[in-house]
Amino acid sequence: MQIPLSADARKWQRIAREYADDYLQPHEVEAELNEGVLPDEITERNKRRAIELGFTALDVPGSHGGLELAMETQVAIWEQLGRVTNALSWCFPEPQSWMFDACSEEQLERFVLPMMKGLHKECYAITESGPGSDVAGIEATAVRDGDDYVLNGEKWFVTSGNLASFFWFQAKLPDEDDEALFLVDQGLDGIEILANPKFSHTYASHHPTYRFRDVRVPASQRVGQPGDGMSYTHSWFRHERLMIGARSCGAAARLIEEALAFANERIIDGAPLSEKQAIQFMLADSVTELYAARLMTYDAARAADRGDDVKAQHARCSMVKLYVSEMANRVADRAVQIFGGRGYMRENVAELFFRELRVDRIWEGTSEIQRLIIARSLMKRGLDGL
Ligand SMILES: Cc1cc2nc3c(=O)[nH]c(=O)nc-3n(C[C@H](O)[C@H](O)[C@H](O)COP(=O)(O)OP(=O)(O)OC[C@H]3O[C@@H](n4cnc5c(N)ncnc54)[C@H](O)[C@@H]3O)c2cc1C
Repeated sequence: MQIPLSADARKWQRIAREYADDYLQPHEVEAELNEGVLPDEITERNKRRAIELGFTALDVPGSHGGLELAMETQVAIWEQLGRVTNALSWCFPEPQSWMFDACSEEQLERFVLPMMKGLHKECYAITESGPGSDVAGIEATAVRDGDDYVLNGEKWFVTSGNLASFFWFQAKLPDEDDEALFLVDQGLDGIEILANPKFSHTYASHHPTYRFRDVRVPASQRVGQPGDGMSYTHSWFRHERLMIGARSCGAAARLIEEALAFANERIIDGAPLSEKQAIQFMLADSVTELYAARLMTYDAARAADRGDDVKAQHARCSMVKLYVSEMANRVADRAVQIFGGRGYMRENVAELFFRELRVDRIWEGTSEIQRLIIARSLMKRGLDGL
């Protein structure tokens, strides 16, 4: 089932599929059985190949040596990378276009551009234990002291904190009645890991809890202009929500293909399992939902490419994140059922995705928060404004 795509998107779709099939997928079980970690030479090889292919430059403006690909094309790439479990596709850093609007030339040179060469890796320290979903209620502070800002706060679930060389750190500026993002190097005095919990998935990227106590960063590492507040964090949310949609479509496609192949091979009562109507209905529901999910994900990507009103884009990215992540969870559940006991084995793709896709309904804003964003947008702008 193909959605019509531009020639460029089709070209990149093929490149990403080959990379996913040849470099990543063969290592899924090995990663699962080894705390998500692959041998260094494989991790390094995969990262090097991703950089050679241009994956670290997809969303980087041409003026900074990037590929500046259309969002439609980026979705086509991330859909293919989403076919792979254990987050093996997170082996390269991802500079995003909003960073080039937000950052000074000095910040770009020091933090963002080295990501294109794989020299830096990012992580995002936004969520806190108190405000949680209510990101507007963030309590971490940044207070100006001479040429520095002094950061204090506790940040939870910092994905890739164990691998990253710097943080994007969101804080309130109580003295300036403002808030801002900061670029913060790993390992500075005052940064402490409070906990490194285990999660349902088996990823090399951990999600530690950090305490920032009187951490000094030069004022030049404040991102954006006074009054920008959370706008760049919202840009990151939009990008990530759309790409969660893309990856969820890829995961669902793989689950359907694998469940169908199994149902064709598995003989029950002397005939392939796929001849049972109960199994066909599960596959039919999954394909139908995937079709809807793909259409809306690519439509939202094209809205970004057209430069539609950013508030409408924000609501659409929430709709994509809500619907597509929940769709993929339903597909994974059906795939486990089709595989039967085999679908409950840790080496089975359905079991892996059944656990891994669950968090897509939680991070980058839970499904409930997406519904709130969509409902508020509907009430403000009306149906035609979405
Ligand atoms: C594995 C993992 C990785 C993560 N990575 C990162 C990261 O890299 N950086 C980062 O900053 N954060 C990260 N997060 C945090 C993630 O974005 C938050 O967990 C998420 O936004 C929910 O916040 P919370 O956990 O505090 O839940 P809570 O806010 O405590 O929510 C609990 C429940 O209440 C519901 N709820 C909350 N408010 C409302 C409301 N107003 N109306 C109705 N229901 C509501 C929620 O939907 C949820 O069901 C990660 C989380 C996980 C699990």
